[in-house]
Amino acid sequence: MSADPHCIFCKIVAGQIPAEKVHEDEHVLAFKDLHPAAPFHALLIPKEHIPTLNHLEEEHDLLMGRLLRAAGRVAAAHGLGAGYRLVGNCERAAGQEVFHIHVHILGGRKFGWPPG
Ligand code: AMP
Ligand code: ZN
Repeated sequence: MSADPHCIFCKIVAGQIPAEKVHEDEHVLAFKDLHPAAPFHALLIPKEHIPTLNHLEEEHDLLMGRLLRAAGRVAAAHGLGAGYRLVGNCERAAGQEVFHIHVHILGGRKFGWPPG
């Protein structure tokens, strides 16, 4: 899927709106969440526009592996050695608001279980 001109995260990938980037490579981008829910809160996205986890195809397996491996890199680079939480909201009932796949990387505090 190519970029969606109406998608806010595609606009961040394209540099059309600003973001505080914490990681970038050829395939994925991570940037600080505008409304942090923890002392460290970044969003990790594939640069390719894929609306939800339910839209993933086999051709995306390598990309999503890269994305998850980047999560660990971001966490390590930001001192989250004690632990961190990854959250992926899929569809509205789970709280997804931006329909471009993203994984929240949260750290710097304790997290309860089960999540709210
Ligand atoms: P979700 O509810 O899982 O779709 O998460 C969307 C997240 O994107 C929320 O935590 C928002 O605070 C965050 N967000 C929305 N727009 C921006 C933006 N322009 N820059 C950074 N974070 C954003
Ligand atoms: Zn997008």
